[in-house]
Amino acid sequence: MNDFANIRTLQQAIIEFSNPDKCIEYVVSMRWPDGVVICPICGRNDVTWLLTQRKWQCKSKHAKRQFSAKVGTIFEDSPLGLDKWLMTAWMIVNCKNGVSSYEISRNIGVTQKSAWFMLQRLRLAMKSDDSGMRGDLVAP
Ligand SMILES: [Zn+2]
Repeated sequence: MNDFANIRTLQQAIIEFSNPDKCIEYVVSMRWPDGVVICPICGRNDVTWLLTQRKWQCKSKHAKRQFSAKVGTIFEDSPLGLDKWLMTAWMIVNCKNGVSSYEISRNIGVTQKSAWFMLQRLRLAMKSDDSGMRGDLVAP
């Protein structure tokens, strides 16, 4: 994943992903490379950022007009935070010899079952595009 190029060590990754605003920045840069956030319902590109809720709000009046960075991505239906998802993605990219669900479980503090689920989803998303996850975060 190109967007992780500036994170070289596990310690940097931990610091980076413990910041919820940074996590959102990463997802935005992967999902909307030009930086323009688009409403997943109606496609408007002039949405408002709600600072205290860390969500966007669409200016059109429709259901689900407030949306988080997770909406419409492979992370959407997961109760796990973006910090855990991005940490796992970083480990997949940076552990050259591969990473197991047991290692993820121990290092990130999730159950082995959750770790396995994250690995499956991320590997599938990353496999479909050689440049990384760009564009493939969007749920099918
Ligand atoms: Zn909208």
